[in-house]
Amino acid sequence: MTTTKSSTKSPTDAKPRCATPNCERAPRKRGRTCGRCATRAWRKNNRSELAARERTRTFTPEQAALRRASAIFFTDLRRRKLTRQPCEECGRADVVPHWRDLTQPLQVVWYCRVHRANERERLAEAAKATAKVVAWKTLGERFAAEWPQLAPDVQARLRAEVERSSTFAIVRANPESPLYRQQLVAAFGRYCASLEATPSSTG
Ligand SMILES: [Zn+2]
Ligand SMILES: [Zn+2]
Repeated sequence: MTTTKSSTKSPTDAKPRCATPNCERAPRKRGRTCGRCATRAWRKNNRSELAARERTRTFTPEQAALRRASAIFFTDLRRRKLTRQPCEECGRADVVPHWRDLTQPLQVVWYCRVHRANERERLAEAAKATAKVVAWKTLGERFAAEWPQLAPDVQARLRAEVERSSTFAIVRANPESPLYRQQLVAAFGRYCASLEATPSSTG
């Protein structure tokens, strides 16, 4: 809000006000009170219903962390009467907070809803990419740990599989090359998956 003049008190241009005493907000298009007061009144009249809903709600760890950060941040914002900053990207005044680190609830970046959604999408994509790398690394680690203990005939079978399916003669000729190893790890991964898919009735 950037009002430079103090509000004029002439009754002729008085704007309609919310019916709740001491509320300065404008009423909704249909109704006597503003949206905030209507919500408050509804919540007051439906406490038990709300409490019942609240008890059955569950949160993922990410949601729980976000709720915690949000509660701490908005309490601080209200108590210290801090002001919102314009959107970091486009300068819009209608902003919502974004946490880069949920363990630092008081450190936020202000974005408009569009740019916060963009930022969240970007972070989700980045997280997905990281998860893929982690999965591959884990298979690599599993290979390093389990390959030496694999029965020699299984090792031979997987090596044969790589050598048979590889398009490149250079791969077939170099069992020590990174590409050969990469394909061997992949073959090992398929072997592990096939073991896990088959019920171990043979022990
Ligand atoms: Zn109101
Ligand atoms: Zn924006």
